[in-house]
Amino acid sequence: MEWLTRQLRQLEAKGLRRTLRPLAAGPYVERDGRRLLNLASNDYLGLSTDPRLTAAAREALERWGVGAGAARLVVGDRPVHEALEAALAALKETEAALVFPSGYAANVGVLSALAGPRDQIFADALNHASLNDGARLSRARFRYYRHRDLEQLERLLQGPGPAPGGRRFIVTDAIFSMDGTVAPLPELAELAARYDAVLVVDDAHGTGIVGPEGRGTAHHLGVADRIPVQVATLSKALGVQGGAALGSRALVDYLLHRARAFIYSTGISPVLAAAALEAVRLVQSDEGARRRHRQQAHVARLKAGLEALGYTVRHEPPAPMLAVLVGAPEAALRLSAMLETRGVLAPAIRPPTVPPGTSRIRLAPMATHTDDDIEAALAAFPEAEAIQPHVA
Ligand code: PMP
Repeated sequence: MEWLTRQLRQLEAKGLRRTLRPLAAGPYVERDGRRLLNLASNDYLGLSTDPRLTAAAREALERWGVGAGAARLVVGDRPVHEALEAALAALKETEAALVFPSGYAANVGVLSALAGPRDQIFADALNHASLNDGARLSRARFRYYRHRDLEQLERLLQGPGPAPGGRRFIVTDAIFSMDGTVAPLPELAELAARYDAVLVVDDAHGTGIVGPEGRGTAHHLGVADRIPVQVATLSKALGVQGGAALGSRALVDYLLHRARAFIYSTGISPVLAAAALEAVRLVQSDEGARRRHRQQAHVARLKAGLEALGYTVRHEPPAPMLAVLVGAPEAALRLSAMLETRGVLAPAIRPPTVPPGTSRIRLAPMATHTDDDIEAALAAFPEAEAIQPHVA
């Protein structure tokens, strides 16, 4: 197995070697005895350490124990799972919801259950890996369209249709988390209707943080009722862990019978289900609205400040994150390391997560950061020229 070591050495030489580095959770973390401002998480609302979520989790722990003990369809279904699914369906205004072990599992489960070898899947080139993996597992014919390129998508839809009896799917992230861009959901819904395709939208980064009451990107864009298959994650703005598929009662019933990532995996811990249920309640409260407003204000301030320093920033409202484009992986690593010495934790995002030549720093402020924190983060950035920004 010496090839493993050889390959790792090659990654190292290309600046692509990764390591795990345990840290505390929350808006500030400590590393090597230094306090760092955490701009690296998806815990946009700061709920992962919220006392109301931990209290709900503790109560569930005492009541139900740690693990579900079996797949939901066997003996791993608890009332708290059902309550969470009802709350998620109410949040998204769908008939039903089905909770998966993670957002990753939800995407893989949904696409591999809905699509098959006679079908066609058209996917945004920047979709999350889990959508691509689900599409591959489905064995449907798979075509990328360039990021948000509606003209190219329409040309593909005008091309040869699926095999007899086959269907077409258009699959997209709602918010592209490495770019801070937003999918054109109204136009995609229009194309889906015109070309008889099923629209599948993964709103991992919008759920809880975007739209009225945190309902998500589809509500923000006014097209929630035109998206038959939605996916959400409990792991980002909701601060917990798990994923969900949302749509009609028939969709959820079908997935219950066909989504292998649901059927053959233990139900999520009742502890997590209870915490997520509390998170859904919180995001729909007035406090949820205040937190969303603060988080969005932090994003806007970071963007304006970085552009004033000469950086190329990718971001579209209401995405809760932004990307500072740097170019080469080494340059992104250098900038990230420099920020860390100045008290800011902001990771370098490199290939294969993003295309070669577009390495970047991803910034995701939290609602629990203060305005002073955001000014301190901006003060930690050098002028863009100092790190030779280059966008491929
Ligand atoms: N979809 C998207 C767009 C994501 O960014 C992620 C997480 N990076 C996932 C799905 C997977 O969600 P989870 O972390 O809950 O598995």
